[in-house]
Amino acid sequence: MKYVILRDDDTNALTPIDYLERLYRPFLDKGLPVNLATIPNVCTEATWAEGKPELFLMAKNGATPKNLPLGSNKKLVEYLRENSGFHVLQHGCRHEFVNKTYEFAQTNRWDISSRLDEGTKYLMDAGFDRPIAFVAPNDQLSKTSLEEVSKRFRVLSTGWYELGRLPISWWPQYALKKTLRTPHWRVGQTILLTHPGCHLSYHKSYATMLDEIKNSIESRRLTVLVTHWWEYFRNNKPDEPFINLLHETADYLARRKDLKVISFDDLAEENISLN
Ligand SMILES: [Zn+2]
Repeated sequence: MKYVILRDDDTNALTPIDYLERLYRPFLDKGLPVNLATIPNVCTEATWAEGKPELFLMAKNGATPKNLPLGSNKKLVEYLRENSGFHVLQHGCRHEFVNKTYEFAQTNRWDISSRLDEGTKYLMDAGFDRPIAFVAPNDQLSKTSLEEVSKRFRVLSTGWYELGRLPISWWPQYALKKTLRTPHWRVGQTILLTHPGCHLSYHKSYATMLDEIKNSIESRRLTVLVTHWWEYFRNNKPDEPFINLLHETADYLARRKDLKVISFDDLAEENISLN
């Protein structure tokens, strides 16, 4: 059996419900879990480059406060809770820059710990279970962040791992992963996942997107497919060809009987072998 986890990043208090519904109704109707890496207390002043607001803030207006906890959007929370196919995991805390670097690429242990705990608290205050999985903004984690994340979460989903950024006590397991050439690995209780880049992105060729996804699924036992809801609605306009590709992906995943689409919770709770 092969396994696929669909991870959509950057849901936050300003995410329009209609967009999630448009993208994921076919997945929910087919019983395919959708994992939303959710920003617990989004910084509404977050930028992706000098002065350019993050596109996941597209619904913000002049009156928006600097931070918005997920729970401040009652309708969104209600929608996510009503649809049990959505699984909420923690995506950073505020998704902002700290000392000119990504939120969890910094090395201040106190700040990192406070942000991890603050993020979890905001998700639980909104009525969700304690998240078991963590995704760092821009998949960037310092050594200290890796240590603190592994103390709190059963699953970390990120792009890749580099020896120089790993705690020294993790080196033996990392050496084994390298020797065996396995994409995913474990340290203690924590499952450490990689993903093959964002295939479902408007930066990629639409002509080859589905084939790239199929190839990734063929080449490993467990594939994490990463996407971002806001990429499908740039300038608040639906990118129809791109949305169709996402829905074709849902059809493909549902059709294959030798493949199971799971949540991060399933991975932590069931005894699924990683590689
Ligand atoms: Zn993000």
